[in-house]
Amino acid sequence: AKEDGRNQAAVFSTEIAAAIAGKRTMRDDLLAALEHGELEPYFQPKYDARSLQLKGVEALVRWNHPQRGLLTPDKFLPAAEDMNVVSVIDHQILWRSVEIISELNAAHGFHIPELSVNISQSRLYDPELLRSVDGLSPPFALSFELLESIYFDDGDDRFYWMLDLLRERGIGIQIDDFGSGRASISALININPDRLKIDRSLVRPLTEKAGSSQLIKGIVDIARSMNIGVTAEGVETQKHANLLRDLGCDMLQGYAFAKPMPADALKEFCLKAAS
Ligand code: C2E
Ligand code: CA
Ligand code: CA
Ligand code: CA
Repeated sequence: AKEDGRNQAAVFSTEIAAAIAGKRTMRDDLLAALEHGELEPYFQPKYDARSLQLKGVEALVRWNHPQRGLLTPDKFLPAAEDMNVVSVIDHQILWRSVEIISELNAAHGFHIPELSVNISQSRLYDPELLRSVDGLSPPFALSFELLESIYFDDGDDRFYWMLDLLRERGIGIQIDDFGSGRASISALININPDRLKIDRSLVRPLTEKAGSSQLIKGIVDIARSMNIGVTAEGVETQKHANLLRDLGCDMLQGYAFAKPMPADALKEFCLKAAS
């Protein structure tokens, strides 16, 4: 929160500079993009570590920029966060994803059991999030992926209140990027999530460093004792997939299985898998 003033000032001066230069600002650009439907969800599959069956998909936002081409979130989410536009993005991605997965399930006779969407930190303090959720009734499980770093801005009951209200509405809670930050274990106790996702930075060195498998084993043991599911993300090789399964991760996600893809490609992907 103490960064807000500085970020606002930085955004403000950037906007002034852009206005002086006669350019469209990033904010104008993003707002126009939202209005014109230039943002769309891509979907990355997740698999059961043992049966290798499709367990669900994660929605990841992309921006089809008319001049700059397809943009990944690192190119625009930080700016969107500073400008309070990210809640609009999250809302659009949530609704659009639910619509797409509902249609795919209904029209093609296959069943994607779960959809997860990433929810920005700031939205958990925004009552609008509940309004965004209340109009939805997805015919599959819906979860929110929350960044681990959220819990260190704590000291605020509104956050836990929001989590309870989401749970009451049947929404699963997953801690994203687990192990990339600090004091993760206390986050588990405070949040009591349904599932955690082990950060790619712990998965990547898995074969080279002996310590990394011990660390993952430790996380899995703690999670299991608390009845929390464990997904490994950023699984890029079959070797990693096998190791992570043997360490007790029950779900796997990564380029070894599938990259994020647009709705059309997901449909083809599922049709092929079903045939
Ligand atoms: P994340 O939630 O941790 O998502 C995983 C990121 O790793 C994605 O990047 C994905 O494309 C990439 N990835 C997946 N498997 C692999 C792999 O095997 N190897 C490697 N090297 N990378 C892999 P992406 O799509 O660029 O998203 C970046 C981050 O942006 C996400 O990280 C998430 O925190 C955020 N984000 C994405 N969509 C949304 C959204 O709709 N709302 C919000 N608030 N944040 C979002
Ligand atoms: Ca995520
Ligand atoms: Ca992640
Ligand atoms: Ca991440």
